[in-house]
Amino acid sequence: MSEKKQGKHVAIYGKGGIGKSTTTSNISAALAEAGYRVIQIGCDPKSDSTTILRGGNDLPTVLDTLREQSKVRIEDVSAVGFGGVLCIEAGGPVPGVGCAGRGINAAVELLQELKLFEEYKPDFVLYDVLGDVVCGGFAVPIRDGIADRVFVVTSSDFMAVFAANNLFKAVNKYAPSGGARLGGVIANSIQAAYAKSLIDDFTDQTGTTVVGYVPRSITVAQSELYGKTVIEALPESGQAQVYRNLARYIDENEESVIPKPLNAPELKRWARSWGDRIFEVESGVVHNMASI
Ligand code: ADP
Ligand code: MG
Repeated sequence: MSEKKQGKHVAIYGKGGIGKSTTTSNISAALAEAGYRVIQIGCDPKSDSTTILRGGNDLPTVLDTLREQSKVRIEDVSAVGFGGVLCIEAGGPVPGVGCAGRGINAAVELLQELKLFEEYKPDFVLYDVLGDVVCGGFAVPIRDGIADRVFVVTSSDFMAVFAANNLFKAVNKYAPSGGARLGGVIANSIQAAYAKSLIDDFTDQTGTTVVGYVPRSITVAQSELYGKTVIEALPESGQAQVYRNLARYIDENEESVIPKPLNAPELKRWARSWGDRIFEVESGVVHNMASI
């Protein structure tokens, strides 16, 4: 990177629909509430990362704006949201054409060219990245020294754990040559009794840790309908406190690891063992694990 890095750059990955944007926006809101200057950059072709920071409104994406005008200013592709969070959406290619990772590249290049970080002097830059990491483009924030640390959002659903394991593979590959390291796992949508144990076991197996458990909560759905984060809509709720704790963790801890992803047969074996344990729960067998 030519530009001197300003602030802590954190990327949040996870499977589509798992709660990345909800979690990232609430963390941004909590950091802003604590007095920090925050930039949130949506790196998902869905381009709705920052919607709940801005009352549910749309924002022109970097890629669309670059397509339409030759000269782009920061004001054209950003908006100030709750608590002063500066919101940006990288955008995606025309559906069915090109690589979705291009949006991330284009956005990062433009922001460097416009010296946004030097001039805005953020304390935190949060990248909300679609993390199925099947395409090299999505690995850009981890690969090219853009983010210092990466967090992954997962639920106890196998497909979400599978995506997290793939992200671990990417971090494991790039970290030794200057890529980002893993800050930890954010366990989202915790509801079923076994969910915590399953995610804890996965992090044990991969040399990682859970940095926060976020319950599945109706407060999230309600706040989303108002186009707001929980921090803004229901600041006194327990759920808001959960997001504040996550923000505090990211602020106060610098710990990071190079994860040890499971290979395909190991992951399959691990999944089957949990299938068996969940079956036993259903049939009333009691083990010495939490509620199992
Ligand atoms: P992603 O950005 O990973 O695609 P979103 O953050 O858009 O996912 O979340 C997908 C849906 O799940 C949204 O409708 C959101 O409100 C809901 N959701 C996310 N986390 C929670 C939670 N902890 N409790 C209840 N609903 C949640
Ligand atoms: Mg999203």
